[in-house]
Amino acid sequence: MALVVQKFGGTSVGSIERIQHVARLALDSQARGDDVVLVVSAMSGETNRLVELAMQIRPIPFSQEYDLLISSGEQIAVGLVTLAINTEAERRGWLKKGEIAAKGLLGYQVGIFTDSIFSKARIQGIDTTRLKSLISSRVIPVIAGFQGVDPESNITTLGRGGSDTSAVAIAAALKADDCEIYTDVDGVYTTDPRLCSDAKKLDRISYEEMMELASLGAKVLQIRSVELAAKYRLPLHVRSSFSSVEGTRVVSQDLLGEQMEQVVVSGVAADGAQVKMTLQNLTEGPGVAAKIFGALSRASIVVDVIIQDIPASGMLTISFTVGRVDHLKAREVLEDLKEQSLPSMRIAEEGDLAKVSVVGVGMQHHPGVASKMFQLLADAGISIKLITTSEIKISCLIASGQMKQAVECLHRGFELHRM
Ligand code: ADP
Ligand code: ASP
Ligand code: MG
Repeated sequence: MALVVQKFGGTSVGSIERIQHVARLALDSQARGDDVVLVVSAMSGETNRLVELAMQIRPIPFSQEYDLLISSGEQIAVGLVTLAINTEAERRGWLKKGEIAAKGLLGYQVGIFTDSIFSKARIQGIDTTRLKSLISSRVIPVIAGFQGVDPESNITTLGRGGSDTSAVAIAAALKADDCEIYTDVDGVYTTDPRLCSDAKKLDRISYEEMMELASLGAKVLQIRSVELAAKYRLPLHVRSSFSSVEGTRVVSQDLLGEQMEQVVVSGVAADGAQVKMTLQNLTEGPGVAAKIFGALSRASIVVDVIIQDIPASGMLTISFTVGRVDHLKAREVLEDLKEQSLPSMRIAEEGDLAKVSVVGVGMQHHPGVASKMFQLLADAGISIKLITTSEIKISCLIASGQMKQAVECLHRGFELHRM
């Protein structure tokens, strides 16, 4: 008998029919002898709806009340999924009077403890007492993903896509045998199958490559869920709740075998919501960059593609990119900094940008991947605004209107359609 954590994303609980299907899947797994724990997201579109409501009042997220609001979609989904499981179990004649098949729990009821960084909270610990007691009574815990509780009893959320991280953290805390991520595609592909019809499904992918893809825009898994899975060596199985086909296993690199190591580029990722921020007219001197990026990091803003330049004028210019969700907060932080200690600084922004990236552990030992990428983009008439590289990825910032075309030309150029 195995202990399996099953996470269902927004589309998988997007309608009453889908929720009833989830209930049948969970009960079928239990009937095969497994212990099952469910983690559910809000119904598709619901979190976006809540975000838009908040934005009409105040455009900057990251507050207690914002998290209280946007965590509520998961409560609805937990209620409906639990109701569906109990109703289906009753219909199957599996329950005696007074018995239940499933019990719905919000983050604070489980004891999913986080820090107090609203909208980007990190899980610090999970109390498994209640979960273990339910499991030993063969009751399925149905847990709200995406949310936790801070030391002051405030509801926190884990960042968009955070139910993946809830599921992995719960699986790690329970030492589960398997963590299944049910979504609306049947696995991890060489690129977003909705952007490129040539995309090929991967049977397996390493944690390292998946982390890069996730951090560069492949929202099929939240980056932090992959980091956690890698830390605990927990294998993930990304699969579709719409079909029973085998999905993609996310595993450690040593389990991938030799053949995969020869692949130079294994995926293309795209993120169409990037903003370039340029800080001009800074007085050169030690500590300027530390001051700027220190303030941004204290506000939990992730920056990428940093470029520093001293034009002939002698004044310093620093450019970097942030995700669109973070950019209003970043502007607020920078305006405070200007007022306090950088009075000459001018802040300029450029939106409508996309980051396209090629990822592959094999590129560490193969020169020429960057030049090939630049040539492919040039041949497609796409100009590059900024470039950044790491050992296993190369990213280019381009106009967001050209993102789909860029993904298609890179996918074909690196022959990923043959994988
Ligand atoms: P869920 O609601 O189940 O969490 P998400 O919308 O968060 O689902 O993530 C699934 C989506 O991720 C897919 O519909 C797909 O468009 C997108 N995606 C982006 N890159 C990839 C990739 N490389 N492989 C698979 N899906 C991807
Ligand atoms: N409902 C949350 C979101 O839309 C969490 C998730 O789907 O994982 O971001
Ligand atoms: Mg998701």
